Amino acid sequence: MSEQPTDGTHDVIILGSGPAGLTAAVYAARANLAPLLVEGVVEGGPTGGQLTLTTDVENFPGFPEGIMGPELITNMRSQAERFGTSFVTEDVVRADLSARPFTLETASGVTLRSRSLIVATGAKPRRLDVPGEDELWGSGVSACATCDGFFFRDRHVIVVGGGDSAMEEATFLTKFAAKVTIVHRREEFRASAIMVDRAQRNEKVEFALNATVTRVNGADGVVSSVTLEDTVTGEQRDLACDGVFLAIGHIPNTWLFDGVLDTDDEGYLVVDDPSTRTNVEGVFACGDVMDHTYRQAITAAGTGCRAAIDAERWLADQDD
Ligand code: NAP
Repeated sequence: MSEQPTDGTHDVIILGSGPAGLTAAVYAARANLAPLLVEGVVEGGPTGGQLTLTTDVENFPGFPEGIMGPELITNMRSQAERFGTSFVTEDVVRADLSARPFTLETASGVTLRSRSLIVATGAKPRRLDVPGEDELWGSGVSACATCDGFFFRDRHVIVVGGGDSAMEEATFLTKFAAKVTIVHRREEFRASAIMVDRAQRNEKVEFALNATVTRVNGADGVVSSVTLEDTVTGEQRDLACDGVFLAIGHIPNTWLFDGVLDTDDEGYLVVDDPSTRTNVEGVFACGDVMDHTYRQAITAAGTGCRAAIDAERWLADQDD
């Protein structure tokens, strides 16, 4: 039987296929480390990371006309492959970092071994945790306007959140929806002024400020309204709508390493800045799983580069 990319002990395994993981793969591959990249590491997460759920990326240097998120990821993946990265498309269900080589177990029961590990598992969309949300998830409640906006042609949808994502998603959704209401729990926005301005100037966009969603109402897989609570007066009211898009931030995907890799108060992996070293020797972290400040494709790619260089130097030290 021919050798599989999963056989043997690797010098470096990279967990995660967003810009951080793929950049780490390009660098590790060009350093002759023949990295194995596990894509689809986290159950339900998109292969290629959050960027595959984006439309135009206008701020990634090198693309003066912008580039579509999925295309950018496809290009990065081809580049990593060209220099010798192997790929495994599976969820990882267990990680043992207590001894080296580290072992990872995939959902189909394959055990992967590696001398070093780069964690680039990203972050997943935060949920509201209100009644009706789970029941109507995927049937009117979504965290991805790019994926689901199309289904809401000429409808009224709400977008929850006051950050850049909320403004971006709301503006994007006006391509389809007749009306988009941004529901935000405060009067001030976390989003940058230019993004707020763009949403405010769009005549299809309305705002419900000082409001939280306390319930998603609907039946038979169809959303009919949300119940809003005024954060100042406590008053409750129903707002009729056909769809609910969440843009309330992300939660880092660290559960594989609970109690093993150090995290900060918000759950992000802690690294020994300016390096990408975690508290476990031979394990490095990059991208959104360790960055709650910048969270940009370009900063994720930058930390991916750093992680690969850190891993390469650490492996060289071990060999010495
Ligand atoms: P974010 O900046 O963390 O904003 C999350 C928003 O959701 C905040 O307004 C927050 O309210 C609200 N929120 C959080 N939990 C909530 C809850 N349980 N109920 C109701 N509201 C809740 O997240 P983001 O908008 O996803 O942006 C993340 C990063 O990506 C940022 O650095 C952003 O600049 C960047 N980004 C950039 C672009 C772009 O440049 N094109 C597009 C998207 C994202 P509070 O404000 O009250 O805390």
